[in-house]
Amino acid sequence: MKIVKDTAVSFHYTLTDQHGEVIDASAERGPLTYLHGHDQIIPGLERQLEGLDTGARANLAVPAAEAYGERREEMVMEVPRDKFPADEELVPGTQVMSQGGGAPVVFTIREVRPDTVLLDGNHPMAGKDLNFAIEVVDVRPASAEELAHGHVHDGDHDH
Ligand code: ZN
Repeated sequence: MKIVKDTAVSFHYTLTDQHGEVIDASAERGPLTYLHGHDQIIPGLERQLEGLDTGARANLAVPAAEAYGERREEMVMEVPRDKFPADEELVPGTQVMSQGGGAPVVFTIREVRPDTVLLDGNHPMAGKDLNFAIEVVDVRPASAEELAHGHVHDGDHDH
């Protein structure tokens, strides 16, 4: 059947960036399953999957703005080194969690300077135009319970 709102969709994908580098692929894990029309996957991908049928293969180009967003330079900040435990090893490229109130934010350490640390709060995929080579494996109507929970139940998941 075709992908429409409230269907449970399984699809394989190979995700590449604008240079053709493979970022992620579902081949070894098995297909990704999601509830269509419930904002479970990035908006540009969900919009383009709409209406595809079981067995369909397609190359879907998703611009950064409809994927993980554009990079925002105001999300890059310099914080004093002593905001981190003295014994914490700070390695550029690794991620740290903010300790403030509200929802935790993941920051990537850009640079460690003598007295400060440069943190980047952008999603690692922000600013990237993405390409998904997809194959729709299965489409079925979601159950009432799945719709109530807002996610797909497959296997023995039962919460
Ligand atoms: Zn559930």
